[in-house]
Amino acid sequence: MNPIGLVLISTTTLFPAYQLAMLPNVEDQIALFSQYLGLAALVLMAWGQVLSTRLPGVETIFGGLDRVYVLHKWAGILAMAAVLLHDTIDAEMDGLGRETALNELAETLGELSLYGLLILVVISVATFIPYHLWKWTHKAMGGLFAAGTFHFIFILKPFSMNDPAGLYTAGFCAIGLASYLWMLLPDGVRPSRAYDIEKLERTGGALAISMQPKGKGLKPTPGQFGIFRFVGATKPEPHPFSFSNIGADGSIRVTIKALGDFTTDLGNRVAIGQRVEIQGPFGRFRRAGDRSQIWIAGGIGITPFLTWARALSVDARPVDLFFCVRSRGDAPHLQELEEVVQAKPNLRLHLFASEEGSRLTADLVAELSDKDMSQAQVSFCGPVSFRQALQPGLRRHGVSPRSFHFEEFEFRTGIGLKRLAAWVSDQRRRTGI
Ligand SMILES: Cc1cc2nc3c(=O)[nH]c(=O)nc-3n(C[C@H](O)[C@H](O)[C@H](O)COP(=O)(O)OP(=O)(O)OC[C@H]3O[C@@H](n4cnc5c(N)ncnc54)[C@H](O)[C@@H]3O)c2cc1C
Repeated sequence: MNPIGLVLISTTTLFPAYQLAMLPNVEDQIALFSQYLGLAALVLMAWGQVLSTRLPGVETIFGGLDRVYVLHKWAGILAMAAVLLHDTIDAEMDGLGRETALNELAETLGELSLYGLLILVVISVATFIPYHLWKWTHKAMGGLFAAGTFHFIFILKPFSMNDPAGLYTAGFCAIGLASYLWMLLPDGVRPSRAYDIEKLERTGGALAISMQPKGKGLKPTPGQFGIFRFVGATKPEPHPFSFSNIGADGSIRVTIKALGDFTTDLGNRVAIGQRVEIQGPFGRFRRAGDRSQIWIAGGIGITPFLTWARALSVDARPVDLFFCVRSRGDAPHLQELEEVVQAKPNLRLHLFASEEGSRLTADLVAELSDKDMSQAQVSFCGPVSFRQALQPGLRRHGVSPRSFHFEEFEFRTGIGLKRLAAWVSDQRRRTGI
């Protein structure tokens, strides 16, 4: 995650506190604090909307799109907490004038926005809700933001809309609402590049789809991903996939593992010649500098490493690639990978097949790579549980969090409730309470 983005969100959210502190003749400081919380919630909600736009500058400021979605989630959660506190701490002040019908409507819409936001944020972090349902509830979040904006504009408050606090917050609301409207446009309207499917291939339990651009294609770099809309598929919603090959002739390939409804059905819904619309390229999963490198892939997490491996120069420092699968038959593009390894003396492949009894641990990574782990850069792509199992051991071997890079293969992440529940039950088991 780019720290500049974090600083930007924090300072812009804190700034209204300064603007309100500068207001003359306000005695009720507690109510003023509550007013601040309301403004901070709107600024955070506006950021949440901006972060969801996938516009090119967003990744430059905040880091890869996978991390942008993590920020988007926390902006929403913090906004909800701020609104809740704003409602709990009385924001009403004496001497602001008599309430009109418009002020009352604004108050009602504020309440609606609060309860709606509470419900939708809880739904958003509930990762068990199917994505296509979740997506619609998530879209309603912008409607609540619009209700919150109405509340802010027409409620009685200790400053006018022409004061700095009014103009500043209104500016954020305008940007947030414009972002929301942008995301409401049909997927086909937002910028994308058209490709035709030219080859379909089954490999290691996954489906590899090669495509040629119709006109100008994308220019992805190794490790990046696109958001793909398969025109004519039953569920035409766009899905993210990493490029598993980037051809010199402009062709691209993705390799898709059946992990849910859409990806399972896709094999029956794609055909040679079919149109695919791709947004992107996105992502900041790049080979890390000139230090010695360890790459760890879990299952379909091999896709970004396939493009890294092809792009690896033969004079680069040696790389150890650990590829963990259930069985050899479950390893997508294994033969292709072995051919690349043959051609690159500085690339070593270690295949771990759990059904054959070999499981990767941090100790094995250190032993087999035979590197000074405190100097190595480790890059990981695979299931979150696998990453969480490896990381503490790697840390013991000297791999600091700064030297550990990973791609979030899941845009929609919870807030760690499952891990918290597992930790609590573990503590109860240990202490016998
Ligand atoms: C940056 C990135 C790169 C990826 N690269 C690959 C790859 O190279 N190969 C591969 O097989 N998989 C890849 N994935 C995972 C792939 O996107 C999901 O497996 C797929 O979208 C699941 O869709 P589904 O409807 O079949 O499954 P579901 O069971 O409906 O969803 C499984 C999970 O995938 C997520 N998801 C579902 N639909 C979408 C969507 N439209 N947009 C975003 N997320 C969604 C949801 O969080 C859901 O919990 C990548 C994911 C990300 C974020």
